[in-house]
Amino acid sequence: MRKLIFSFCLLVFSTTLVAAQQYDLVLEGGRVMDPETGLDAVRNVGIRDGKIARISSEALPGRRVVHASGLVVAPGFIDLHQHGQDLASQRVKALDGVTSALELEIGVPDVAQFLKAKEGHSLIHYGTSASHAAARALVFGAPLPSGEILPKSGPATDQPATPDQIEAIRRRLRAELDAGGLAVGMGIEYTPGATRLEVIDMFRLAAERRVPVYTHARSSGRVEPGPTVQQISEVIGAAAISGASLHIVHINSTCLRDVFECLSLVEGARAHGLDVTTEAYPYIAGMTTINSALFNPGWQEKLGISYPQLVLPETGEHLTKERFDELHNSSTTHGVIIFNNKQEVVDRVIPHPLVMIASDGEQGHPRNAGTYSRVLAEYVREKGTITLMDALRKMSLMPAEMLERSTLDARRKGRLQEGADADIVVFDAATITDRSTFEKPMEPSVGVHYLVVGGTVVVNEGKLVPDVFPGRPLVGPGKGLAPHS
Ligand SMILES: [Zn+2]
Repeated sequence: MRKLIFSFCLLVFSTTLVAAQQYDLVLEGGRVMDPETGLDAVRNVGIRDGKIARISSEALPGRRVVHASGLVVAPGFIDLHQHGQDLASQRVKALDGVTSALELEIGVPDVAQFLKAKEGHSLIHYGTSASHAAARALVFGAPLPSGEILPKSGPATDQPATPDQIEAIRRRLRAELDAGGLAVGMGIEYTPGATRLEVIDMFRLAAERRVPVYTHARSSGRVEPGPTVQQISEVIGAAAISGASLHIVHINSTCLRDVFECLSLVEGARAHGLDVTTEAYPYIAGMTTINSALFNPGWQEKLGISYPQLVLPETGEHLTKERFDELHNSSTTHGVIIFNNKQEVVDRVIPHPLVMIASDGEQGHPRNAGTYSRVLAEYVREKGTITLMDALRKMSLMPAEMLERSTLDARRKGRLQEGADADIVVFDAATITDRSTFEKPMEPSVGVHYLVVGGTVVVNEGKLVPDVFPGRPLVGPGKGLAPHS
């Protein structure tokens, strides 16, 4: 009897030992690539409790083992610039390899409400900046309608703020940062009434709260005064004066044919010690709302385009002056695609070493669904202008490093390393392809076989897993929370 009890104890002990060594999920035999360490080798990846617990060339036991031979195993892509925060957009992003998608360019009007609404309902990780445009609209007595991020052109966008109003905007932004905002988001082109001093004051506030400023610069084009080069100088100057980190969004569509001049300004600022970063998306058209201040008088001269280059996403209708006037003056927000860039410009911007990839995605534009696969298909595989490792760096490590200015949680993202969060994309580099077009903007990409978000499989054998919502918030230092710990 004693012998039997002893054997039983041994059995329990060894079973416990095996269970302790077993991983929740093992990705076996894939080409594991990590842009930070340069690892590019066939390895097995053991995942436990939402983290990468082991990377090894030895076989690892797992409750589930996924065979990844012939596939790339890389850190999940981090999209710093994603407006479409709805589930349909998250689904196409997951199939494009994205494990975190954040609204940082402009920011949502109410950070607490946004975070509460997403909790337990998000396929991928999320977060937002505190919105200067929304704070301004609120202070001017024209709060944004729910679900919208850009104000309609009017006094709240076009008039300068009084000192009292600027103080009220600051108060609102501080409260939004306390609610978990990761940064101050400024769409300066959408609030042309904001003076240079108002912009500097917002950078000062960001510096005071130790968060970066993400900005869509004041305007585009070559028309003096106010050409692109001056607008990039404005925000670099505000960063220098205040000490705030600066991220210039979509340098491709802000600077258009002058983008290499703009990149040289960013390079110069960095060479002299400023913390300035930038991003681009791989499409020749942009998208915005047609009743916004971007279309205040003078837009044709500034952008070098006219009505026919404006297209409604749902119908493909090219606008006329009459149709434009009707939509621009309407109080109803309407999305519009702007064909304002050239393919050869975009083709040279994407490989630039300072440029990270960010989609600026929302429903109606193919960049929502196709940005990341498009870079891998067109620039890595077809044109050969970026190495696969450099593309991964632009999509995962560089945005994670940018996010570290807002939250230390980002140190565990954008890396395929032991101890990192298990946010992982497994894709076929030979077949990954975007399929979204201006006619069919929500066609999902193909080639992502698996996507793991915080240890949970959300894309399995190329298909979305229903009813899993492992997405967690990324929040700024004001919140005082550590949601991933
Ligand atoms: Zn923008």
